Amino acid sequence: MDNSDILTAHEDAITEVTTDTKFTPWIDGEQYFPDQDVTIETIDPAVTRPITAIPVCDSDDVDAAVKAARDAYDREWAATLPAERVTMLRKWVNELRDHEDELTRLECLDTGKPIKQARGEVQAAFDTLDYYASLCRTIKGDQIAAGEDLHAYTRKEPFGVVGQIIPWNFPIWSLTWKLGPALAAGNTSVLKPAQDAPLTAIRAAQLSTDIFPDGVVNVVPGIGSDVGNALTGHGGVQKVSFTGSRKVGELVMQSAANHIAPVTLELGSKSPFLVFPDANLSKVGQAIADGIYYSSGEICDAFSRTIVHKDIYEEFLDAFLAAAEEYTCGDPLDEDTTMGPLTTADQYESVQKYISLGKQEGSNLVYGGGTPAESLEHGWYIEPTVFTDVDNDMRIACEEIFGPVQTIQTFGSYEEGIDLANDTRFGLSAGIGTEDISLAHRAAADLEAGIVYVNDYGPILPEAPYGGFNESGIGNDLGEESLNHYLQTKSVYMNLENPTH
Ligand code: NAD
Repeated sequence: MDNSDILTAHEDAITEVTTDTKFTPWIDGEQYFPDQDVTIETIDPAVTRPITAIPVCDSDDVDAAVKAARDAYDREWAATLPAERVTMLRKWVNELRDHEDELTRLECLDTGKPIKQARGEVQAAFDTLDYYASLCRTIKGDQIAAGEDLHAYTRKEPFGVVGQIIPWNFPIWSLTWKLGPALAAGNTSVLKPAQDAPLTAIRAAQLSTDIFPDGVVNVVPGIGSDVGNALTGHGGVQKVSFTGSRKVGELVMQSAANHIAPVTLELGSKSPFLVFPDANLSKVGQAIADGIYYSSGEICDAFSRTIVHKDIYEEFLDAFLAAAEEYTCGDPLDEDTTMGPLTTADQYESVQKYISLGKQEGSNLVYGGGTPAESLEHGWYIEPTVFTDVDNDMRIACEEIFGPVQTIQTFGSYEEGIDLANDTRFGLSAGIGTEDISLAHRAAADLEAGIVYVNDYGPILPEAPYGGFNESGIGNDLGEESLNHYLQTKSVYMNLENPTH
């Protein structure tokens, strides 16, 4: 395929997904048109052409959305039974499933993800909602042992209106990590998608029409420092859940603190993968390549720091490069493409700066580092990249690059390996390559991370909590933990009078 074929294919695909759909904010069960006449263009990063322009919200629109969410909560949502919420969530999943191809195409065009990866994530999003539908009916309180004249028990209650903010790297999947547990627990939501990839969030909300009561699901696209900040600082928002960068996470926490709203934060990382001398190198090389090149490395738990035992360094490098070679840049609409462009212009520039920095810092660029063939010149592509001779003092080894850039360093003793891996302020995920089960369990306990993969990268089950240690976040998405984050506990003491015998 040459350049003009790719441009034509994308123009056709954009026309197909935008002809019958108008992308606008979604408030109180309908399309919403802000008074201010400001739009943002969302860009197809493979061809750097606009997909569509979206009217953006400001703080007045956030007020309207929070009011709609509160009214829906007070009017009817707070009184729904779990069984009713199960039915509605399942209906929504079915409606979304009926639009799987459309949502997959939208995600592919909006983020630049290869279409196969986009499809997998769209399906995983359905699975997440389905899981939370099944958890709805598990919400219960406890009875507490007390005297004969006292009945004490707990109730689990929703917060009311929750404010939720998601990033651009896994838009529809993140949306379901937020809305699934929040709605299952009985809250209403105002959700802000990222300005760079808001399309599937808006479309998913539109596809909830006549399923949830108006105002239960609201989507307010816009600029983070404006709409996001208005949402997290809004006194009518009783709980905040944020996924994004460490830097913005801190701002979100400060803003929520002004009205003492609890926060869940899912932030970035600089995740290590330790490769021990007995590792199966082809298996582990593949896992690490998947862990840094899937989704062009724009993944929060990317294995961006490989720490290999010095005795197997050369063999590991060969195995890793063989797996890296399977990731080649191509048109995201092509079913055979394994790596798409980066999603935003800022990210493209930032990753290029880190590649230059890696060279300046004295590490050794052994693979990639450039932009691919002419036929892809219109997109924000960066080749899979590998630096060796890296140490933990270098910025490329301690800052989140959020792109397809691997750094490789070596260790000698077990303790040195663990120390190097834990020498980071982050702690989202960590990997272990070994065939020794005892060693795997020991390292899994010693690594400071919320998620540990052994000889693997990739599986994320809705049942398993997902969250970071240290500065990678607070609390969890997914699992029962996340449902509990959206519930607060009330203790009830009831005087039963002294029974008469
Ligand atoms: P970001 O922090 O720039 O933006 C995330 C969201 O916050 C966007 O919707 C943005 O508009 C909004 N925002 C920006 N400024 C805001 C403010 N002042 N107040 C409120 N909201 C604001 O992050 P990004 O560039 O969109 O995403 C990449 C980051 O997200 C990476 O650091 C990545 O590791 C992290 N991430 C973490 C997880 C996880 O589960 N831990 C998952 C995906 C991405």
